[in-house]
Amino acid sequence: MIAWDSQPNELDYPFEQMSKEEEHDQYHHQEYDDRYYDYEEITYLVGVRGVYEVILDQGTMAFFEAIRGIEKQYNEDVEDYILPPYTGKKPTLVLDMDETLIHAAIDCIPIESYRDYYAEELNRGWDFFFCLPYIDDQDSHTIVNVKKRKGVDMFLEKMSKHFELVLWTAGDKVYADCILDRLDPNGYISHRLYREHCTVLNIDNGVYMKNLKRLGRNMRRTLILENSPRNFGFQIDNGIPITSFEAYFDGDVSVFDETDEKLLELTPLLMDCRNDDDLVDCVINWFKIREVSETAALISGELSY
Ligand SMILES: [Mg+2]
Repeated sequence: MIAWDSQPNELDYPFEQMSKEEEHDQYHHQEYDDRYYDYEEITYLVGVRGVYEVILDQGTMAFFEAIRGIEKQYNEDVEDYILPPYTGKKPTLVLDMDETLIHAAIDCIPIESYRDYYAEELNRGWDFFFCLPYIDDQDSHTIVNVKKRKGVDMFLEKMSKHFELVLWTAGDKVYADCILDRLDPNGYISHRLYREHCTVLNIDNGVYMKNLKRLGRNMRRTLILENSPRNFGFQIDNGIPITSFEAYFDGDVSVFDETDEKLLELTPLLMDCRNDDDLVDCVINWFKIREVSETAALISGELSY
């Protein structure tokens, strides 16, 4: 394994990305209302500096803190596995779909303008779109426009050689299958899991947790790639966060972040750890999320009085 983790300056420790002035403002604000504190404004940079970096917010850290203690019960042995047994030698890589591999946007289009829509929308840079079959009515089509994240085709092909790929989305099956049939025509993904396989936690208006323990795989050789780190909160040490791949509107036109190369940046890290007996050790070393969340808990404790 390449010694990413021995780079002396790999991570200057989780830090708040606030200037001194901002920090002062935050504390100053506290003096006026000590009950109020906007957690989302504190962020933490995690990852391997200069190679693969992701920003996590205090809200995510607060969530990890909130579920500390209950995560244990989800890590006990389970019997109702949601995947068939695996006899191969590859480690398992669980991939989230929305905002991790693709960005999708839903649009309702009157039937009479559907044909024009086709040509126009594809010109706006989407890779493909389709009608959602189950909520169509007589007057309009519900269209899902999909943009693939840069490098996703190569990522799936390459990773499938070294990992058992499991796609796990919190989206429902009909929606996800429409996307995955087009995203993965070669079948690099071995298994698909959906919302129905998630565990719903009634915190933060309901969070669809992906309990890796239910996969029935070697937990030291199972990783999950997610743009919503809360979803892997039961197994923080197995989680690789990734920046959300999103779009914004410039007038009528969807604009995608052309500079995003997160999948390409992550590839060497995954290639590096793929043969390890303990991939989780590598991930802990790279991201230190548990450590960061413990620090975050201290910070929020300090700020709450
Ligand atoms: Mg997602």
